[in-house]
Amino acid sequence: MSKENWLRALPGIDSLLRSESMQHLRSGYSERALTDALRNILQDLRQQLLSDELALDLENFLLTLDIEKKDCSQSEAWADFLRPRIKSELSLNEGFSFRPVINATGVILHTNLGRAPLGDLAARHVYESLISYSNLEYDLAAGERGERYQALEPLLARLTGQEAALVVNNNAAAVLLILNELAEGKEVIVSRSELVEIGGAFRVPDVMLKANCRLREVGTTNKTHDYDYERAINPETALILKVHQSNFRITGFYSELEAKELAQIAERHELPFVYDLGSGLLHPEAKRLLPEEPSVRDALNSKADLICFSGDKLLGGPQAGIIVGKKKYIERLKKNPYTRAFRIDKMVVSALEAVLRAYLDPERLKLELPIFAFLEKSLAELESRSDIFIDRLEAQGVEASLVSSEGEIGGGSAPGQAFPSCAIALDPAQIGRSAAEVEAELRQQDPPIVACIRKDCLLFDLRCVREDEEEELCRSILKIFAKNS
Ligand SMILES: *Cc1c(COP(=O)(O)O)cnc(C)c1O
Repeated sequence: MSKENWLRALPGIDSLLRSESMQHLRSGYSERALTDALRNILQDLRQQLLSDELALDLENFLLTLDIEKKDCSQSEAWADFLRPRIKSELSLNEGFSFRPVINATGVILHTNLGRAPLGDLAARHVYESLISYSNLEYDLAAGERGERYQALEPLLARLTGQEAALVVNNNAAAVLLILNELAEGKEVIVSRSELVEIGGAFRVPDVMLKANCRLREVGTTNKTHDYDYERAINPETALILKVHQSNFRITGFYSELEAKELAQIAERHELPFVYDLGSGLLHPEAKRLLPEEPSVRDALNSKADLICFSGDKLLGGPQAGIIVGKKKYIERLKKNPYTRAFRIDKMVVSALEAVLRAYLDPERLKLELPIFAFLEKSLAELESRSDIFIDRLEAQGVEASLVSSEGEIGGGSAPGQAFPSCAIALDPAQIGRSAAEVEAELRQQDPPIVACIRKDCLLFDLRCVREDEEEELCRSILKIFAKNS
């Protein structure tokens, strides 16, 4: 192929700007910034073509192009190929210490990697509400001060059928607030099987202490009966608390009371019953997706007076602590000074509203909340994607194979409920290096890549890797593994 033909195959700035994969950048950058970036990149490509010194990736890419057919599929291909360059030209993420990483671990809610990622629609809504002023605490109809939670409370009430709702900084804050408001100076009854520690210093007994209430443990580690609760109730009792065990399971000779039974005991004694559910599995098909994880629907059916859960676990949204339940209790919570101390920021208000709105139309959940797309990805789909990826690596002389692995939810949800998954395995011995060394180098890439090590091999699970991240993942792996570059 002649130089002239290659030059003719270069895309125009306009067609790149119109391409699908540029659209997300268009909402974040001015036309001018994008045009400038593209002009610089195209200029550089032109020079490379004229000098006959093509980078390997460019040479390979050109071979995939059908020069005769200069249409929009070709602009798409170019835009995809140029994506990393466009990002670096725009200095996207450059120099930031907090930045996006590629999660190749297969763990869907990786707490260290920020738990649930947001979908495009929610992220765009956050972006747009942040670059402008907003009606955060302004009632547009009345033209006067409004409530920070005005967008969220009706949505949560509608989705859960509860009278009232409140959202705070995270679920740990929700529990602390509830205990402090409803049980300060008094006793809270909890089963010994539920005195859990959630990662990062959330331990039920310590939270009790800081909420200034007294823990009244009942039952034993493996068995707690209704009479244990009944006997513990006394004039000092303020509430009964159920805490979802979340990150561990007791099996064998074990029983605990169902939330429904606890609610009945509490009602008989005119005490509030509070259920710390941990993960907010609100998906309408919760039982199909995660049969063992208690859902928000289960908690609602138990008739708890207050239910609280995280926004960024199985709800799939931003970090938040969501409380729903009886209006008389929520009203009290709203007046507690902790509510002000734990209040959510406008970024969370906008992200959470977008995420909750997705729940109004279950068809949209998989499209708008990435965790459900990841969770529902079939093994067959994952295998064929991985096979294509492996072919691409092998075309560059890198040996890779498909291995079976286990996916997990993570984030302290559904422990022990691993599901079948698969991963791409690369043996670092082929480049004479150790797995630990390569794993560390992967973390230094831009964007950084977090992978797993198993039996001295590096494993890459594509389940939580977006299609558009795949390109960058492939590029970085080739950079480290390709012998001829
Ligand atoms: C995860 C969890 C918490 C803490 O929630 P955060 O949103 O991480 O603060 C509290 N209680 C239970 C039962 C949990 O699973």
